Amino acid sequence: MELLKNKTAIITGAGSGIGESIALLFAENGAKVVVTDIDEDGGNRVLKAILKTGAEAIFVKSNTASFEDNQRVVTEAQRAFGGVHIAVNNAGIGGAQAPIGEYPLESWDKVIGVNLSGVFYGMRSQIPAMLEAGGGAIINMASILGQVGFDYSCAYVAAKHAVVGLTKNAALEYSAKGIRVNAVGPGFINTPLLSNNLPQEQLDQIAALHPIGRLGKPEEVAELVLWLASEKASFVCGSYYAIDGGYLAR
Ligand code: NAD
Repeated sequence: MELLKNKTAIITGAGSGIGESIALLFAENGAKVVVTDIDEDGGNRVLKAILKTGAEAIFVKSNTASFEDNQRVVTEAQRAFGGVHIAVNNAGIGGAQAPIGEYPLESWDKVIGVNLSGVFYGMRSQIPAMLEAGGGAIINMASILGQVGFDYSCAYVAAKHAVVGLTKNAALEYSAKGIRVNAVGPGFINTPLLSNNLPQEQLDQIAALHPIGRLGKPEEVAELVLWLASEKASFVCGSYYAIDGGYLAR
């Protein structure tokens, strides 16, 4: 079934991991996909994979921490496909690991810039376009760390908590105008964000924190995001949806 037929969807950070899986699943479901990423190689790789299936897509290189780039993404989407109906503000980074008293200031600024301001700049650019298109759906990528803390990750934890708050506010302001806004909170998912930064021993320890006994897969997160983006979730707005193998149940 094509759940997103005739919809145009912007996905930030779609050149890898969770964003890549969302982009591929959205395309499979009939969406015209606007792949965006700061990484040109990753973005073009995913674009090629989508075009190969016969679906429509474009790649727009964009730094999500730049308001101007977010605006350009929307303009390019409108130019290519006539409007914007769905946005997934997914781009994110991990940042340094250190206690707050020693946390590197530049890492704080970078993580807040990408993981929090990036989501605000995204919605700030996408919402006017969605109003013009007659409504839409936004999914912001939070984390289990938008609900609980995690040692030595203060910037990430603060940004993801703030994304949940920002999501609630956007829902208050725009639900009655036809834009549903929700946040998704994955547990630890096996993507380059984890595998490039942590040794296998630590990955095993992290997997054990999930009652289900393993890390999540990006494809599993994409299924939830697809549902939230689709009309099947027509009464869902302003919510945080955990997809975490039971992590938050402890
Ligand atoms: P990933 O590293 O595989 O992919 C992230 C993508 O974002 C990359 O393609 C990267 O180039 C892009 N990106 C980074 N900075 C950018 C910027 N400034 N502008 C545009 N693009 C940028 O990571 P992932 O695991 O797929 O993470 C995707 C999202 O999911 C992030 O917001 C992350 O915080 C969140 N998340 C991940 C996990 C996990 O365990 N992997 C858990 C919870 C939440």
